[in-house]
Amino acid sequence: MKIILAKSAGFCFGVDRAVKKAYEYSNLKNIYTLGPIIHNQQVVDDLNRNGIKVMESVEDIHTIVDGTLIIRSHGISQEVYNNAEVKFNKVLDATCPFVKRIHRIVKEHSKKDYRILIVGNKDHPEVAGIMGWSYSNPMVINSVEEANNLDIEVNNKICVVAQTTFNTNKFEEIVEIVRKKVYDVIVFNTICSATNQRQSEALQIAKKVNKMIVIGGRHSSNTQKLYEICKNECQNTYHIETVNDIDFKEFKPDDIVGITAGASTPNNIIEEVIFKMTHNDHDNENSFEKLLEESLFSIHNGKIVKGKVIA
Ligand code: SF4
Repeated sequence: MKIILAKSAGFCFGVDRAVKKAYEYSNLKNIYTLGPIIHNQQVVDDLNRNGIKVMESVEDIHTIVDGTLIIRSHGISQEVYNNAEVKFNKVLDATCPFVKRIHRIVKEHSKKDYRILIVGNKDHPEVAGIMGWSYSNPMVINSVEEANNLDIEVNNKICVVAQTTFNTNKFEEIVEIVRKKVYDVIVFNTICSATNQRQSEALQIAKKVNKMIVIGGRHSSNTQKLYEICKNECQNTYHIETVNDIDFKEFKPDDIVGITAGASTPNNIIEEVIFKMTHNDHDNENSFEKLLEESLFSIHNGKIVKGKVIA
């Protein structure tokens, strides 16, 4: 079996930064994250074991908390931020700089009477946060169909931004439709470079292989996008969260298998998948566990090498 691993697989810059921040402050008393720090249950559970609790909403807090709140990479609305600052002794902002940029664009342009149009999933926390930086009521659309049905006056001023993990081709298609409906449209393609790189690499790999594995949390938006892109090119695409989700009977020795992973997938999970795929030693769980324990393999620049496992 030949395996092609995407170089971009694993934590992106923003997630890496937020997770490191959480571990760095895990020795503090009463430390919370607002929502799970990333869409990866294994990491959230590990942080929990290190004393970091997940809080679903700042509004649930009725008294001042003698503790610290970490804002995850998705960011939050201005109102939630202000509330958090009142209710917590300390707020550590780990919002990804790419998301912060969208907050600034939305704030600035809504102040200049542009109506904000966000291209993304309205139920995703990043989009909910972005909406909260607009001075007027923002619109959110997620598909070409919704763009076609958009009911806007031709003389409206519209400022378009994208959820950072949105599909680039779909965004361009939607922008074309919006441009035909309104004269004054300002467009900011705010899809982040990490997403762009990951998506185009996934596409290239999916074209070359006969099976594709996309590793990432079920609720991770960017993992779902990767899955969609790969599935379009390669019918045999599997979305898995961990090595336990792989049905090894599906894989044959002459397969060419591509592997990519969402921005919130830790390296050790990718390693486990590759290790098990490459060793094809499925009956011998003990030896597999032992080898993993001894940290014999790790990934550097997309290549499996012998050495210490990267946490
Ligand atoms: Fe930041 Fe992009 Fe990662 Fe989101 S996917 S956290 S915007 S680098």
